[in-house]
Amino acid sequence: MAKAKQDFYEQLGVVQSASPEEIKKAYRKLAIKYHPDKNPGDGEAEERFKEVTEAYEVLSDEDKRHKYDQFGHAVFEGGGGGGGFGGGGFGGGGFGGVDLEEALRTFMGAFGGSGGGGGGGSRSTNRGSDLRFDLEIDFEEAVFGSQRELSFPVMQECDDCSGEGAAQGSSRETCSMCQGSGVTTTSNGLFHIRQNCSTCGGTGEVVRNPCRRCHGSGRVKGKRTLNLKIPSGVETGSRLRVAGKGEGGLRGGPAGDLFVIIHVKRHDVFERQGLDLSCELPVPFTTATLGGEIEVPTLNGSAKLKIPAGTQSGKIFRLRNKGIKDPRGYGQGDQHVRVIVEVPTGLNHKQKKEIGQLDELLKPTNHSMDASFKKKVAKFFVRKESLDRTDS
Ligand SMILES: [Zn+2]
Ligand SMILES: [Zn+2]
Repeated sequence: MAKAKQDFYEQLGVVQSASPEEIKKAYRKLAIKYHPDKNPGDGEAEERFKEVTEAYEVLSDEDKRHKYDQFGHAVFEGGGGGGGFGGGGFGGGGFGGVDLEEALRTFMGAFGGSGGGGGGGSRSTNRGSDLRFDLEIDFEEAVFGSQRELSFPVMQECDDCSGEGAAQGSSRETCSMCQGSGVTTTSNGLFHIRQNCSTCGGTGEVVRNPCRRCHGSGRVKGKRTLNLKIPSGVETGSRLRVAGKGEGGLRGGPAGDLFVIIHVKRHDVFERQGLDLSCELPVPFTTATLGGEIEVPTLNGSAKLKIPAGTQSGKIFRLRNKGIKDPRGYGQGDQHVRVIVEVPTGLNHKQKKEIGQLDELLKPTNHSMDASFKKKVAKFFVRKESLDRTDS
């Protein structure tokens, strides 16, 4: 029952960046192979059929897929009720009546808290806690994907007692306070109050002779190392779920999941907004004045950008499809290039003289920005003067 769920992408045998067409194709192939009509009486085939259909239900829906990429299975696990995907036959459609937002909230609540046992429904009380790992990565890794080795402390099942918490030769005993039910009831005649048994903490069992290594908790401190594949296109706030790599379960219970939260470092050249990139580009003032072509760094090398004559500082040009590729194959962003006109500094005597002559030469031409600015400033002082006069 509590077996860890396989990743939906793995179920369908596709990569996480697969396009909707690839997912559809993969599902069709598997659905034909495992269809109950083709495999009468084969329980395993039926199980597989249900699994791939469930995976397809999520991955074929853009919104559900996005949520799944961020939060994993937990989003789609029903709290109690029908639980998950259609009970009996398939074809009911929908999602077992699970309200997605509700499931999300339940999940977020359990997150970071006690984890194991929280939420309810399909989660076993012996399940290990989910863990959160905040990972800072470089801009390049986020854009192109990479591989990282993670190492972190976890609580693992104690080998000495197999997570039982009882010393060798002894075992856990039924709690005498609650007779193993895990709850106690107090009554004042009018009300019956049911509470978790304080003697056994609600487990229904006590350890009389605790294991020396784990002092009866069934868990010991350990360290986990794993290789994490960071898919291309992740951004700050992306969550990667690694099933079964959280804390160890108790007494044979399944391990929790590991959630890796991505934080992308600032880059010196590129800035990111969703799939779009932006950068600043210094342009010599002669090029800005006369026009010309200039090289712009892009993710895949460089591109040529035409600068029209009379380009002002701050002007933004758009390079189509030079942004980040959607990790799920839905197109590509643009790159926005903001021009910074560079004024020459450290001129020698001759250069200064020539620019001075140039200034004379340019006087009669249209400096429209300058003219309109001066007009606005003049208006300001006229207003100010009239206010000063009414004051006194
Ligand atoms: Zn008890
Ligand atoms: Zn132990």
